[in-house]
Amino acid sequence: MEIACLDLEGVLIPEIWIEFAERTGIAELRATTRDIPDYDVLMKQRLRLLDQHGLRLPDIQAVIDTMEPLPGAREFLDWLRERFQVLILSDTYYQFSAPLMRQLGWPALFCHRLEVDATGRVTDYVLRQKDQKRQSVKAIKSLNFRVIAAGDSYNDTTMLAEADAGILFNAPANVIAEFPQFPSVEGYEALKEAFRRASIRAI
Ligand SMILES: [Mg+2]
Repeated sequence: MEIACLDLEGVLIPEIWIEFAERTGIAELRATTRDIPDYDVLMKQRLRLLDQHGLRLPDIQAVIDTMEPLPGAREFLDWLRERFQVLILSDTYYQFSAPLMRQLGWPALFCHRLEVDATGRVTDYVLRQKDQKRQSVKAIKSLNFRVIAAGDSYNDTTMLAEADAGILFNAPANVIAEFPQFPSVEGYEALKEAFRRASIRAI
């Protein structure tokens, strides 16, 4: 019994905040954890910028609604779902991911949530659990599933390490160099092959 766990942004969809910054022209929203390592400081800045620009949740969702999954992502995910139960483990927020998850056929998603007031203003963010990607893999393993996980960045590495097999997908060079223990692949065909190799079944 095997379960596939996938990161979302950078694996199936573009980085939401970066795309969102481009669509809205709000350059400061391009900042990521690489610019501001403290996630809380970064998120508070993002929420302040949304306020400054008068962007409420429905406005944000309307912009996200115009985004698309990465080319080939839906086909890859459908291929994977024919062979594994697939769980998406992401550090995004349910309210942001919805338009893109619709285009991916609503796979199971574990992520976080935003607090929104009656007017639609985003007032805060709530992490469901710290290090949730790793905790999720741990919990799934406790149910006697074997886990194969794939992700593209630093925030995936504890998930990859906890899984029975971890795969880096389209990862930046510094992440590949720092985590040589994980096979690293580019493109969905190579990712399929990596899942085939990591599986204990003939898939
Ligand atoms: Mg990612």
